[in-house]
Amino acid sequence: MFYKFPNSCYIGRSITHALPVYLICLLLIPKIHSAQQLDISSPLPELKVTSPFGKRIHPILEIPKFHYGVDFKCQSDTIKSILNGEVIFTGHHRYLGNYITIKSGELEIIYAHLNSLLIQINDQVWAGDNIGISGNTGLSTAEHLHLSIKVKGRYIDPITFLKAIQTQHFNTL
Ligand SMILES: [Zn+2]
Repeated sequence: MFYKFPNSCYIGRSITHALPVYLICLLLIPKIHSAQQLDISSPLPELKVTSPFGKRIHPILEIPKFHYGVDFKCQSDTIKSILNGEVIFTGHHRYLGNYITIKSGELEIIYAHLNSLLIQINDQVWAGDNIGISGNTGLSTAEHLHLSIKVKGRYIDPITFLKAIQTQHFNTL
């Protein structure tokens, strides 16, 4: 199933267990956005999933390991913030490489394996702001963006979330 994002991006994943997360997202969105219109942006010009959220055999470690995010194909792409928020962490992790965590209400969105960062800790960012350049840092076989989303500390499937906020976006137009 291909999914159209407002700025012509596509998410080619079917949605599983969508309903509970969808409802969580709808409950959270009013807390994130007090404005009338929901401000959202795709993190990349094109969202091509190379590894979905969930159980998998890790491509480098070759052991079963839960994938707490989704991987999108990249090539020196400028990464944009999905939502308005505050940069609460920037740094390097041996698995995630250079990464950024942006907090938006109850949500934390993590952008990983970046080549370089275009923001600093404590910066306020708007949806669509340039936050980094994609890369291949950390434990990574090829350049990609790893995107993780936590709701109150629990990881959710980012694809389900992106679908939910897109639906909400269109409902407010
Ligand atoms: Zn990943």
